[in-house]
Amino acid sequence: MGYADFHRRSIEEPDAFWAEQARLVDWKTPPVRICDNDRPPFTRWFVGGTTNLCHNAVDRHLAQRGDQAALIAVSSETGTEATYTFRQLHAEVQRTAAMLRELGVGRGDRVLVYMPMIAEAVFAMLACARIGAIHSVVFGGFASVSLASRIEDAGPLVIVSADAGSRGGKVTAYKPLLDEAIRLSSHKPRAVLLADRGLAPMERVPGRDHDWAPLRDKHLHTTVACEWMDATDVSYTIYTSGTTGRPKGVQRDVGGYAVALAASMRHIFDAQAGETYFSTSDIGWVVGHSYIVYGPLIAGMATILYEGLPIRPDAGIWWSLVEKYKVSVMFSAPTAVRVLKKQDPAFLQKYDLSSLRALFLAGEPLDEPTARWIADGLGVPVVDNYWQTESGWPILTIANGVEKQPGKFGSPGVPMYGFKVRIVHEATGEELTEPDQKGVVVIEGPTPPGFMQTVWRDDARYVQTYWKSIPGKMVYSTFDWGIRDADGYYYILGRTDDVINVAGHRLGTREIEESISSHPAVAEVAVVGVADPVKGQVAMAFVVPRDAAAVADPADALKLEGAILKVVDQQLGAVARPSRVRFVTLLPKTRSGKLLRRAIQAVCEGRDPGDLTTIEDPSALQQIRDLITA
Ligand code: AMP
Repeated sequence: MGYADFHRRSIEEPDAFWAEQARLVDWKTPPVRICDNDRPPFTRWFVGGTTNLCHNAVDRHLAQRGDQAALIAVSSETGTEATYTFRQLHAEVQRTAAMLRELGVGRGDRVLVYMPMIAEAVFAMLACARIGAIHSVVFGGFASVSLASRIEDAGPLVIVSADAGSRGGKVTAYKPLLDEAIRLSSHKPRAVLLADRGLAPMERVPGRDHDWAPLRDKHLHTTVACEWMDATDVSYTIYTSGTTGRPKGVQRDVGGYAVALAASMRHIFDAQAGETYFSTSDIGWVVGHSYIVYGPLIAGMATILYEGLPIRPDAGIWWSLVEKYKVSVMFSAPTAVRVLKKQDPAFLQKYDLSSLRALFLAGEPLDEPTARWIADGLGVPVVDNYWQTESGWPILTIANGVEKQPGKFGSPGVPMYGFKVRIVHEATGEELTEPDQKGVVVIEGPTPPGFMQTVWRDDARYVQTYWKSIPGKMVYSTFDWGIRDADGYYYILGRTDDVINVAGHRLGTREIEESISSHPAVAEVAVVGVADPVKGQVAMAFVVPRDAAAVADPADALKLEGAILKVVDQQLGAVARPSRVRFVTLLPKTRSGKLLRRAIQAVCEGRDPGDLTTIEDPSALQQIRDLITA
């Protein structure tokens, strides 16, 4: 079957199509109803079925591939490498599940995971899935305020963490950030489980904090069976940024997610059991959940968990892993490739990469020079894929496992099976059916398996934010601009909201503004995303100081800039740190007081700011122009 027919069938006969895909995973009891869309936009998949993500990722492979590698944990930061077979992974996950049980965790309880890229993080995620607890992994690069808002919202019974993470040889102690976050949050966890890597000293809170190693020893031989979960139960939440400062808990199910990932491993990633998958993402992001942990393991593959930079000890580190572990499928982000592009290209020739069949890139727009450079260097197809934390797996790409089709530079591809993607006019909601018309990329319900179920504990926010933003139509907005060409390929043209994308990481400008505003010298602030040759975008902040005299002297201005950046570092983490803080006497606003972020962004990028008839005081924009061109 060609891809066009495959996609058509998924849309026209969703029940038959997805019932077939559901056979890619094990069920304790098979589903009774495939797609229940009785209460849109809340689509429920595989109703009546019971299964378990951990069973599908680990247990079901024991008979056939128990001694095959499952998890390969590599840290170029600590110089360590450990391989766990499926059997060993099974044992570690049961030990971790037993520890969580001992700390009181049961079905439906939340466990927040704030960890670096170490094997224990994967054990913790799988252990939660095993006992039916809901995990919420928070990216280790976030600091105490970001972490506190997620603790507050998730309400975890237990937090799993570690002494420290390391990046580029710089150790970040997690425990003080975690303690501060717990202090800031009104919700307090009952217990904290801590993996000690010996990288940073930890102070334990008696009665609350528990060490991983002794507790694991206690449960060396404890067996913990999988809880059979309803397909529609919650497997995890993951927080993502939006237009408001408050992050949203994207909630995902059990059965739909298992099927979506299993299907994508076959149809999109064209991957085989027994091979090795290497995703360079982080478990704190959705790509890490889907394609470091669950996807490859469900497919019976070994997965590489990598802590470190792509250029340390040298720019050949990733390719050396491809050679050593015979990686067949690799997944990364355009930013990482742009970083590598600045290094000696000889590193691409140094290793035997013959096992590699394709490199998938996602998270941000993939520019043609970057795509060409890496495709030529590796000699394998580079496949762009467009998706979101919300979708859980690719919305647009090329399903080479169904039919080999050419890609087009600059386009992530065509809609994946199950996705009804449309381009609509942002003001009228009218569908733009002619080719090459720019509009908002939306998805018509029912949303496919694996898609978010709702916003954690906030159905109203889910409906209001995602399904009511287009006038006259209940469709899911991606908040991305896009066009579709005459051949049906889509092009993504940037966000419609105030979300920016730094090195493939989604950040809300509002969150960064709130953090900067907490500095006592700041009266007002605007944060915009500005184009950057390596990171795609970087955040740039414009601050009106309370006292103009405080920044009159350039040395004082530099000092205040440093102090403000430090606040962002401490509250949100280095990922959110703006590239610069510039001082102005006023910000460009409309007469009704709305910040003209887009105009600021245009000026920063040397573009025409467009229609400025509503601007209160044009000199505000001139100040920014002067600063940028100075
Ligand atoms: P996140 O949920 O953090 O993964 O961010 C999702 C957003 O990243 C999307 O809404 C897009 O704006 C952007 N994005 C992800 N993948 C791509 C891609 N392949 N091409 C262009 N933009 C992308």
